[in-house]
Amino acid sequence: MIEPRIILQSDHGIDFDQLSDQAVEVVHRLNSAGFSGELVGGCVRDLLLGKQPKDFDVATSATPEQVKNLFERAIIIGRRFRLVEVRIAREIVQVATYRTAPGYSARYGRQRNFSSKGKILKDNNFGDIEQDAFRRDLTINSLFLNPSDMAIFDYSGGFEDIQAGIIRVIGNPTDRYQEDPVRILRTIRFAAAFDFEIDFKSAEPIPSLSRLLVDVSNSRLAEEIKKLFFSGNAVSVFGLLNEFGVFTDLFPCYSRVHGYSMDETTLQWLTGLFQEMDARIQNAEPLSLSYTLAAILWLPYSRALQRESTRRNGKNFDSTRLANDIVNLQNRSTYISKVNKQQIFEIWRLQRKMQQLKLGTRSIVGNSRFRAAVRLLEHRTKFDEVSRKASSGWIKIRDNQSVTGKRHTRRRRRPRPTVRT
Ligand code: ATP
Ligand code: MG
Repeated sequence: MIEPRIILQSDHGIDFDQLSDQAVEVVHRLNSAGFSGELVGGCVRDLLLGKQPKDFDVATSATPEQVKNLFERAIIIGRRFRLVEVRIAREIVQVATYRTAPGYSARYGRQRNFSSKGKILKDNNFGDIEQDAFRRDLTINSLFLNPSDMAIFDYSGGFEDIQAGIIRVIGNPTDRYQEDPVRILRTIRFAAAFDFEIDFKSAEPIPSLSRLLVDVSNSRLAEEIKKLFFSGNAVSVFGLLNEFGVFTDLFPCYSRVHGYSMDETTLQWLTGLFQEMDARIQNAEPLSLSYTLAAILWLPYSRALQRESTRRNGKNFDSTRLANDIVNLQNRSTYISKVNKQQIFEIWRLQRKMQQLKLGTRSIVGNSRFRAAVRLLEHRTKFDEVSRKASSGWIKIRDNQSVTGKRHTRRRRRPRPTVRT
């Protein structure tokens, strides 16, 4: 048994009123039924950092079934990680049973829960609060807050790390990254979000282990890249991903193997893109995944187009195949839905159309991807891929749409112009 450090309210300063009423009620009901329960993880961390938590998670000694039975509107979700979603009023509180780190399960042993590469397959061995603290990823994410006396339990030194601005993996970082390579992305994401320093021991293994991300399901990685790049800190996230060599594991068409090392232009292209995304978040403007991917992947795509064009001495060729290759390669790493794929192709197709067809052509202006396409065109103009003269007219049309709030819509289908895309 390790005694936790107990931090009293007078020392941490979180106010009871800052807690979600619903999460407090969940803990209250668990307590009344004889179980322990605390607020845990991201919400405690964010409150200590003076930020508004996105949601409030609860950890408890009750099993998922026991939790479910205590609440009217509760469902058990997840397989790899079973937890209960309790709905109170309009809020959902996620309630997770204390777990042991899978490696330390006396009952099932290591084989049962790990792949041959040490990856966790299942994480459902229940334990006590101390074990639950150590199975978490980072010290800053491992603090428990008891709403009844407002005390924080700290088993891993997370309170000090928050105060010192340090991201530290709990346990042996190499083992923890191998168990779940997504932790590499979480380490980077939180370091960028809070402008924290990654502790040396937690940083050191990242470059050699990030290739393990290849084995993570593409749907899980698709979720992670949204969190990474739609965070408002995309520039710092990209800086760290690149510094540790992780970016190419997420975006394989940028990898050296395919001939695209991070030259200066590429770096500027991506940094510029992420700056623009951060600014949009700052201004509460919408961001679409398809535009983001279309813009990130544009460089490898346009370079592939150029190479193919040189190879064929400028003769016409099927660019759809090249577009498909790039998007399919990306889909192996981060899942791209059919709709998003179509939108990416459309944004790319419009790049050519805007350069080839008359300014204001209705099929272009009325296209649902027109605005995203102009945004990409604008970005390309900064890189001299398109002349200012060629892009300014389209930009004006787009800006006029914003001012009048009126968008052209395609009223009737016209025969497609016979331009190859
Ligand atoms: P966010 O603000 O992004 O929601 P969070 O810390 O709440 O941050 P969640 O993904 O909601 O992140 O996870 C909740 C908690 O579960 C974390 O704070 C952490 O303690 C634990 N956790 C999440 N993912 C992992 C992981 N891959 N390995 C170990 N612990 C994890
Ligand atoms: Mg959370």
